[in-house]
Amino acid sequence: MQRLVLFDIDCTLIDAHGAGGRAIFAAIGDTFGVTGRLDGYTFHGRTDPAIVHDLATRWGVPPERVAAGLGECLRRYVARLRDEVAGDRVEVLPGVRELVTALAADRRVVLGLLTGNVAEGAAVKLAPTGMASLFKVGAYGSDSSRRPDLPAIAVRRAERLTGRRFTGKGIVVVGDTPADIGCGAALGVKTIAVATGTHSVEELAAHAPDHVFPDLSDWRAVYETIIA
Ligand SMILES: [Mg+2]
Repeated sequence: MQRLVLFDIDCTLIDAHGAGGRAIFAAIGDTFGVTGRLDGYTFHGRTDPAIVHDLATRWGVPPERVAAGLGECLRRYVARLRDEVAGDRVEVLPGVRELVTALAADRRVVLGLLTGNVAEGAAVKLAPTGMASLFKVGAYGSDSSRRPDLPAIAVRRAERLTGRRFTGKGIVVVGDTPADIGCGAALGVKTIAVATGTHSVEELAAHAPDHVFPDLSDWRAVYETIIA
C-alpha cells in the first residue's frame, strides 16, 4: 500500500521554544495596535489565521478590521518569526530526524506536512533543521483556517504530485494534539499521537488515536506502526 505520512510541526517535529507565540504577539501589536493576555487561550492545534483572529478580537479589535488586516498581520508575523528563529531556538525533538530520514528514503512513503502554520512560517521554522526538503507536500494554515479542511488538501496535492492514490489508513497523520487526531476523522486516516506537547499520553488516548507514543525517541517502533 502507498502511504502518505503527514506530520504536524510544532511540538511534533520541533520545539521552537515559544518563537511562534512571541512573533504572533508582536505582529498583532504592529498591525492592530493591541496586546493582551492569553487567559487560558492555547495555540496548540490551531491555525495561524485562527490564532490572529481569536486574539485580536479578544483584545478588542472588531472582527471586520481583523479580517481586513489579516494578510498584513501574517506577513509581519513571518518577518518577526524569521528574527526569532535566527537565535538558534529551534530544537528537533528526540527521534524525529531518524524517523523522518528513514521514511523519506522508503519508496512506499510520500512525506508531507499538515500544520496550522502558514506555509511561509512552516518554511522558516523548518529551515534551521535541514529537514524541510524531505517533505514533498503540505497543507497549511494559509490554505484554510479550519484544520479539518487540511487533510483533504494534502491528499489532493500528493495525488497530483505522484499520480498515486491515498485513501483510508494509507493516510497517516502524526501530531501532538486532539485537533491533529480529529482532523483526519472524516477521511478515516490512521492517527498517531505523540505526547511531546502539552497533552499527556492519557489525555491523547482519550481521543482514541490509532496509536499514542510518549515521544518519538523509539523511532523504529513508530516507523513500524506507520508502515504496518
Ligand atoms: Mg502541534
